[in-house]
Amino acid sequence: MRCEALQVDFSQPPWALAAPVVAGLTAAGHVVVFVGGCVRDHLLGRPITDLDLATDASPDQVEALFERCVTVGKQFGVTVVLVPGGEVEVATFRSDEAYIDGRRPTGVVTATEEVDVERRDFTCNALVLDPVRKQLRDHVGGLADIEAKCLRVVGDPKARLEEDRLRVLRGLRFAAHLGFTIEPATEQALRSVATTGLSRERIWEEWRKGVSDPCRSRWVCLVNELGLGSVLSPLLATADLPSLDHLPADCPSLSALAATLAATEPEALAAWLKTEPISREWRRDLPWLVCHQHPATWDSSLAERRAKLLAPAAASLMPLLVNREDWPQAANLHAEFTHLSAHRPQPYLTGADLIALGVAPGPQLGEILAALWKAQLAGEISDFSTAKEHAVALAGL
Ligand code: ATP
Ligand code: MG
Repeated sequence: MRCEALQVDFSQPPWALAAPVVAGLTAAGHVVVFVGGCVRDHLLGRPITDLDLATDASPDQVEALFERCVTVGKQFGVTVVLVPGGEVEVATFRSDEAYIDGRRPTGVVTATEEVDVERRDFTCNALVLDPVRKQLRDHVGGLADIEAKCLRVVGDPKARLEEDRLRVLRGLRFAAHLGFTIEPATEQALRSVATTGLSRERIWEEWRKGVSDPCRSRWVCLVNELGLGSVLSPLLATADLPSLDHLPADCPSLSALAATLAATEPEALAAWLKTEPISREWRRDLPWLVCHQHPATWDSSLAERRAKLLAPAAASLMPLLVNREDWPQAANLHAEFTHLSAHRPQPYLTGADLIALGVAPGPQLGEILAALWKAQLAGEISDFSTAKEHAVALAGL
């Protein structure tokens, strides 16, 4: 075991969030350590997104110590403790029993810190930071791997990936996100372990995380290089990598997904959407976004352009326009969208107004409303009385 003294001020953010949990467990005589992504990201100087603690206390003991707890997976020994300003996940040291169907362990048994790290996926995710002794403990060679920027499975790569095949997809994501090279035996196992049997939900979650990450183009490359496109989606084979590099770092997931699928034909996209557990809103907006990131779709009249810029998905298109040097009109579209969003036009006349003017309810009324709206967006109508004149003329009154 490698053990190093570490100067971390646990009373400061982000660690301070977990201070009440660390104090409570320690006062009750339990061992409690930080584990997983927060330790890894701290060592890499990356922002820490969430805090995970591991302890020798059982979930029942954790629940008895803290007033506000949510049990998320008692069978896996995980309790979420709600603290002022957020939440902290507390996992009981455990060892996983035999895995069934490459997805989940049949059960878990409580264990020690040394045994707990053995069940973790990659060495960089298996480091332990002890806030009481102010020590970093490494039982699996993770520190050397972090220093060498190397992704390595804890234990026998093939056996560990076969146990839980989601680790294959997690491995690709971590390698891309952290910019790590993949250790040869780990790479061989990533290539060879079949990822059958994973639910579409778990696969889709990896997809979403992969394209949401600023290192998305590296992720797409790795997916294709390691032959995992067939698991995630064959559509990734046609992803346009240079355009992914131009996306802003904080690009929302939906926009990034649309950029990734830019070269996908509408029929292939529709077929793919049927297979994925995607929200209704994304299902509605993706085809529109995939289509409208191509300049040719904007060669239209002023009214049509404005109508498009008022479409529900238009806001998600904007991140795709910011760095488009190859599309001179993109900056204008962006400015026009900003203006329209700030001064969102409303139709001057409603159906009720037309009826009051003497238009009979029916299809003609709808047609007149649409024509009025088009004329308004084209700038031909700019006030109520002109709208009324237009309506009277259109209705032949
Ligand atoms: P992120 O920054 O994406 O949250 P993370 O490392 O914190 O990265 P989590 O999914 O939050 O990842 O999981 C926390 C820790 O639990 C991991 O660091 C790893 O040690 C362990 N872990 C999570 N999923 C698995 C898995 N499928 N197999 C083995 N260990 C896992
Ligand atoms: Mg995490």
